[in-house]
Parts: sequence; structure tokens; C-alpha cells
Amino acid sequence: MLLRVVGCHGGETPRHRTTAFVVDDVLAIDAGSLTSGLDLPAQYRLRACLIGHAHLDHIRDLATISDNRCQKGCPPLVVAATRGTLRALKKYFFNGVLWPDFTQIPSAASPTIQLLELKRGVPTTVAGFEVTAIPVTHTIESSGFLIARGRAALGFTGDTGPTDRFWEVMAAEPRLRGLLAEVSFPNRLQRLATDSGHHTPRSLGADLRKSPSPGALPTLLYHMKPAYLAEIERECARLRLPNLSTLRLDEELVL
Ligand SMILES: [Zn+2]
Ligand SMILES: [Zn+2]
Repeated sequence: MLLRVVGCHGGETPRHRTTAFVVDDVLAIDAGSLTSGLDLPAQYRLRACLIGHAHLDHIRDLATISDNRCQKGCPPLVVAATRGTLRALKKYFFNGVLWPDFTQIPSAASPTIQLLELKRGVPTTVAGFEVTAIPVTHTIESSGFLIARGRAALGFTGDTGPTDRFWEVMAAEPRLRGLLAEVSFPNRLQRLATDSGHHTPRSLGADLRKSPSPGALPTLLYHMKPAYLAEIERECARLRLPNLSTLRLDEELVL
């Protein structure tokens, strides 16, 4: 699997972008920076986008990518998420007020955006990948994903604080090649992290140690708040877990 880091931060500046990844050119994970970080041909190549939860930093560029793909006459972009997340997208985002309803444009039969419901814990084929949504612990309905193709699989935590089911599924997955894990705040802001359903390096370290072999797989960190990036990196280094690294924009990794 080729993983492209489009956005890996928990905030935006001209040098930081909100969450979005692309696997093998066709499957996006979250849409925080799909248009601010991808040129038009790369936007057109996408076949589907998984959405872990409906917070704006993970869905915002669905607005602009819909517009770009509609102009080009691209086939529908499948947007796959759990029921509560799809409901929020329909009610608050593609509602014809905040943004045109691209689930009905240019026509209901062949729209720009095609919503696909993922049932938690049930593997579903999305753009040629086997995708399983796993509930995680955030302030609203939020899912991590297990994404598998052939003999390789990738885990994505989504926005979450300490959680159990996700790590159980990862521990039981023999195809797992790497983990995308969120970490948002430095340890001194643990209260804020807890209240907002996010990790600090300390709480993430505790979750990673739920694995039978912590540090055995590449663990790629994202969702760092730009203001605390250096502090979070120092604290992650002190966890002394091998294979732990904070991601950089536009990195490409083979897993
Ligand atoms: Zn969130
Ligand atoms: Zn977020």
C-alpha cells in the first residue's frame, strides 16, 4: 500500500493542513485537506473517501472537491461513513444551505457524491479495499478504520482519546503493516485532551501498550495541534517506543 500524507495536523496554517490521507491514489481517509493539498488530477483520481467523524477539520474539503469534480464530470465519489456521520453530513453540510446538495447534483441518479453506510465491525468493500469501521471514543460518533487490500492492512484511529475496541481489533489483525494514530495535545494539557476526546503522548503511549507487541509496527502520528508540535514530538520521543514517528506533509510511505 502506498500511503500519501495530504494533511496530518489538528489545525491549519499555511504550513499545516488538517487530516487527510490517500491510499494507492484512489482511497482517501478523511477530507480535511483534499483540495488544499492535492492538485486537480489527484482529486479526479479518487474513487472513495472514508470519513471517521463529522467534525469540520475532517470533512471541510468535501465541499470544494465536490465542486471541482462536478465541473470535470467525474464519476460519483463514494463517501463512506457510519450512519450518524452520514446523517450529520446530510443535515448540516450537503443541505442546500451551507453548501449545495452534491448528493443530488448533477442528478439524483448520477450524483457527484454518493453516500455509503458502513456498519460498525462489518467489513465492506470500498474502492477495492476491505474497510471496517470500529467505534472509538470522541465527543461525537467517531470511528477508526481497518483498511485491507491483499495481504496488507492499515489501521487509522480517527479522533479518539483512550479506547479499547480499536486496539483489540488491531491486535487480532495478522495483515497489519502500520498504524495511523492521533495525538493532539502535550501532556500538560491532559485535562483539555480528556474533555475534547483526544490523546496526549502519555495517554497514547498507554493505549499503544495494550498491543501484545507495542512498537512492533510503524506507528505514524497525526492530528498534532500546530502550536504544540515541537513539544508533542519531544514527549513522544520520551515514550521510548520504536517505530513511532510524527508525520510530515506530502510524505509518501510504502506499507
Ligand atoms: Zn474531532
Ligand atoms: Zn479532528
